[in-house]
Amino acid sequence: MLSTTTELRAVGAATIRAIAAVALLGMSAQVFPLQAQAAAGVPKSTADDPKVKAALATLKADNAWTLDQQASICEIAAPPFKEAARAAEFKKRLEGLGLKNVRIDSEGNVIGERPGTGKGPTVLFSAHLDTVFPEETDVTVKREGTLMTGPGIGDDCRGLAVLLSVARALNSAGVQTDGRILFVGTVGEEGPGNLRGVRHLFSSPIKDSIDYFISVDGAGMGTTIAAVGSHRYRVTYKGPGGHSFGSFGMSNPIHALGRAIAKVSELQVPADPKTTFSVGIIAGGTSVNSIAFEASMDMDMRSESEAELQALDNRFQKAIRDALAEERARWPNSKAALDMVIDTIGIRPAGSQPISAPIVQVALQAAKSLGVTSPTGASSTDSNIPISLGVPAITIDGGGQGRGAHSASESYDDGPTGWQGPQWAALIVTTLAGLSYLPATLQ
Ligand SMILES: [Zn+2]
Repeated sequence: MLSTTTELRAVGAATIRAIAAVALLGMSAQVFPLQAQAAAGVPKSTADDPKVKAALATLKADNAWTLDQQASICEIAAPPFKEAARAAEFKKRLEGLGLKNVRIDSEGNVIGERPGTGKGPTVLFSAHLDTVFPEETDVTVKREGTLMTGPGIGDDCRGLAVLLSVARALNSAGVQTDGRILFVGTVGEEGPGNLRGVRHLFSSPIKDSIDYFISVDGAGMGTTIAAVGSHRYRVTYKGPGGHSFGSFGMSNPIHALGRAIAKVSELQVPADPKTTFSVGIIAGGTSVNSIAFEASMDMDMRSESEAELQALDNRFQKAIRDALAEERARWPNSKAALDMVIDTIGIRPAGSQPISAPIVQVALQAAKSLGVTSPTGASSTDSNIPISLGVPAITIDGGGQGRGAHSASESYDDGPTGWQGPQWAALIVTTLAGLSYLPATLQ
């Protein structure tokens, strides 16, 4: 899930816009857009298929194997931009489970294939490799009964373990789907990575073959069906700086920042679609008797609607420019320049799909067949990219219960029914990929 980390990676706005433009251009190339979902109908559930039932039984019986995978993969650190060691191990495990053509792409994503009969759609089934934790973090996992504690244990070592256990169970039960299932460990899902792994997937040739996208992220039994978009910037006002008494009359970067924040705090946003803004960090100044040479703020804006997010962004851009102009105008005789620099921290597109969308219905019905009601909601996950491109996509929880995601005391409790998470995922991916050998009565 989206990081609230304070670690920043200033990325040029032009670069991000270019990526967004490429992503948008890709929209028309999708072979299976959202609009086509209704026409295609909701695929028939595989819940009654004997082989799928056997796979589900394996997931329950071998739950300890799943938990061992979760703990052991989590003890390999995977900080933002440094996922390579965990990726190499994940690749090895996918190979060990018999997946085909297992490789690491140029961005660092691990991709393994489970071929279908060739008659069905391609389902991309993923979890993210990265964590929010810096390299020096102690990643030891402590286990006490069903409770595991360690950085990233739920977000997203749980998702990685769900992928591995589903691959293993489908193989042991001999499930042959019509569609191909791509098992993918993505890089860069958390804040600093700005979805770089999934952006790469949807800007490389593989995108044209992806009919459905499922990511497993964190714990619980919820379904994310809408993508909360975000625009995040660091705005810095800069001048030469000087003595507070001796240089009085000079434009003041901290005063300009104050003007900007005052304007930001008055921005109006709709309650529905939920649209939010916050200045999360301010910095600047060196001493009480100095005119600072710079002052900055980190701004976070989010919305479930791309249009509202862009409208808010436009008002924000005007506010920070007006603040600059007003501070310059306040000191007309100032010989010192006052400038503004905008760094883009991250841009994530928003998007939504109706609850009636077949991919959503498949997930809700699969949960129901396990006796679970899955709550639906909006979040910021790897699914943001496919949803914004019109590719059917959901992010599901991995079962169990999570606490303290993104904190050093993060924990995952498998409880009495944690195995339902992998079972749910297995039902969703097999239903989407399709089973043509199902007896006619089940079609
Ligand atoms: Zn996550």
